[in-house]
Amino acid sequence: MTPLDLSTAGGRRGAKQWVAIALIGAALILAVALIALYLVPREDPTVVKLPTEYPFRCTQCSHEWSADQAGVTRYFRGGLPTTLSPVDCPSCGRKGAAYMMARCPWCQKHYIHPHLLKAQAGRPKEDICPHCGKDVLKWRR
Ligand SMILES: [Zn+2]
Ligand SMILES: [Zn+2]
Repeated sequence: MTPLDLSTAGGRRGAKQWVAIALIGAALILAVALIALYLVPREDPTVVKLPTEYPFRCTQCSHEWSADQAGVTRYFRGGLPTTLSPVDCPSCGRKGAAYMMARCPWCQKHYIHPHLLKAQAGRPKEDICPHCGKDVLKWRR
């Protein structure tokens, strides 16, 4: 019976508790990691870095909004976001009424490709920016 024995016994109890806490902690970290893996889209390092925000505009009610990477994948299931695919408008609820906007290389403003609004057949010959009036197709790097 010495203070040393008592502290040793106490230390063992403490060690068991710590093992239990460590196991629970490890399980929690594993669960969080699995959820994160499931939620975060897999990134391909060969793909050019995508913007973090995507601007959208509804052609029916003019509602504009921007979606982040996670929001965009909700609109474009199984594929990369494209400015040519119509999406449903979250404001007026019309199906396929909204488009992701492109950025004009001349004036850097966002716009919807005009030929999408005109129901043209075939490839567009020109793509005039509604902000600056320049043909985006004529822009070269
Ligand atoms: Zn709308
Ligand atoms: Zn422009």
